Amino acid sequence: RSLPLKPSAYRLRPLTGYGPPPSAPGRTPVRHEALMSMTGRGRTMVLTFDDGPDPRYTPRILDTLAEYDVRAMFFVCGEMAVDNQDLLARMADEGHIVGNHTWSHPLLTRLTRRQIHSEMSRTSDVIEEGYGERPRWFRAPYGAWNRAAFQFGSEMGMEPLAWTVDTLDWTTPGAGVIVDRVEKGAAPGVVVLSHDAGGDRSQSVRALRGYLPHLLDSGYHITVPRRQFLSLVNIS
Ligand SMILES: [Zn+2]
Repeated sequence: RSLPLKPSAYRLRPLTGYGPPPSAPGRTPVRHEALMSMTGRGRTMVLTFDDGPDPRYTPRILDTLAEYDVRAMFFVCGEMAVDNQDLLARMADEGHIVGNHTWSHPLLTRLTRRQIHSEMSRTSDVIEEGYGERPRWFRAPYGAWNRAAFQFGSEMGMEPLAWTVDTLDWTTPGAGVIVDRVEKGAAPGVVVLSHDAGGDRSQSVRALRGYLPHLLDSGYHITVPRRQFLSLVNIS
């Protein structure tokens, strides 16, 4: 069965905003509890970077995060992680969280259960090698979850994590626009989506240097979630 988005092609396509609606009846488990709790009080936000690691951009993002003593989440693809194990080790050393973003970034809703399982489990394996522990978080490519993805994620000990502010940085709108989107979207509990791979991400790298100090100056606490052990309900 051929896939609509081959690894070489998906890099050129929108990485977000694609897929079935998140609450398609009968297809998607619905959560009625918060996904996570976060340390710190008040204005807390989470920064997430997807599709890497990429040796061209990820180290520069890590440098900026280190400069400001901030931890973030990286949802990595297995096919990127396997060649950049040193970056996974650096993420572990510097206190970041590495999550599973599948092996080849497919649209999971088009795959068989067996293929979905393979995409997820191989990625957890390669993360364990480089990062030192298996991932506890999972994010479906394009935000396109399905029942199998939730089920396997749960079996593999991972919580799903979406986002609330999409920088749309993959459209390369200019670093200033990305900064603007993050700062306008800033609010307590916000989860920001950016990308450190999948194309030219120099704007994403530059933008972080713009909005991160502003957020910190505005009193935001940029942190990573503690994992919650919640069960999915209303799976029908
Ligand atoms: Zn992605």
